[in-house]
Amino acid sequence: MENLQAIGTEQINGNAYSQENFETIAVRTQSERTQFQEHSVPLFLTSSYVFEDSEDMRASFAEEKERNIYSRFSNPNTSEFVEKIVKMEGAEGGYAFATGMAAVFSTLAALLNSGDHIVAARSIFGSTHGLFTKYFPKWNISHSYFDVNQPEDIKALIKPETKVLFAESPTNPGVDILDLELLGDIARKHDLILIIDNCFATPYLQNPIKFGADLVIHSATKLIDGQGRVLGGVTVGREDLIREIYLFSRNTGPALSPFNAWILSKSLETLPVRLERHCENALKVAEFLETLDETENVKYPFLRTHPQYEIAKKQMKLGGNVVAFEIKGGIEAGRRFIDNLQLCSRSANLGDTRTIVTHPASTTHSKLSESERLDAGISDGLVRISVGLEHIDDIIKDLKNALNN
Ligand SMILES: *Cc1c(COP(=O)(O)O)cnc(C)c1O
Repeated sequence: MENLQAIGTEQINGNAYSQENFETIAVRTQSERTQFQEHSVPLFLTSSYVFEDSEDMRASFAEEKERNIYSRFSNPNTSEFVEKIVKMEGAEGGYAFATGMAAVFSTLAALLNSGDHIVAARSIFGSTHGLFTKYFPKWNISHSYFDVNQPEDIKALIKPETKVLFAESPTNPGVDILDLELLGDIARKHDLILIIDNCFATPYLQNPIKFGADLVIHSATKLIDGQGRVLGGVTVGREDLIREIYLFSRNTGPALSPFNAWILSKSLETLPVRLERHCENALKVAEFLETLDETENVKYPFLRTHPQYEIAKKQMKLGGNVVAFEIKGGIEAGRRFIDNLQLCSRSANLGDTRTIVTHPASTTHSKLSESERLDAGISDGLVRISVGLEHIDDIIKDLKNALNN
């Protein structure tokens, strides 16, 4: 993308490579080497950049030149990270943010005007729901929710002022699947901007742009970092929309720090290898949980019993690392199970090397009323497991012990 966080690509540091294979893109997309000929990309901790003369400065600010001016606008580390995600998602451009929520907020704030309306799946990340219900009404931006299991209701919710169709797939924490092709068709017919939060899938498992998404958002904090270290977010997609998002963000300042971008770009080098094992372990955990008497409604996109199994197979390479299930006995049984865990972490993050177990009804969603919780697909006994990279036998042993006690 011209003038944005762009860097040279096809021929990088003397290494020519194909732009087709995910693994090679992940490893070989790099910023240009400095005069020190370093092999691994250095950390560019600089807030600003210098100019040759006044003409250079004028032309740079006029965006006649593609170059770095100030790290709120662009930085070599941030550009490298964005460029990788752009290629991995098959997008035209992108911009990186300090957190996933900064990406969600800035993307919508840049594109929506007072009076606009959003149609969204009801099962969305808690803070995104907070944005729609607590803050957007202040700017006269309204929303309507549809049930993830009834996407046929979407058409009836669309009004003349509807501008955005927003969804996650798989959803957090229920691991429901939305048919991206169907959403793409609806968005095209009704001239809506389709925005997909692709956090649970990562660009390795699913590319929503192929199915008609205009923009794809990631919380890079999760599987993209993959090791529970830094926060980050990114939005990629259509060039004209990214331009609006870039200009908004350049002024409002939600930019990703170069240090976090450096970490995240290095993490992307191993994303395919990590995801293969995460997904293999998660499928085994799901299959194991299905055999137990203490559990019900085990949900994992690549389990045949998942209500949207066929759709998941159509749009995802593998099923992801999150498994949801219900523990018989409601809130108390859920809490006891969490207390009995000895290896798995009790934490609110996900997409870490370490397996993390959460009980939404008593934690992240405890402020909602029971009916609000059920509307969001969260029953009292729902447990979410972000399956990590420990040995599968150890993960299963811990879950088994905690459920039996
Ligand atoms: C975590 C998460 C976010 C927010 O990301 P942060 O980096 O924590 O701000 C947004 N969407 C989904 C689906 C998430 O899981």
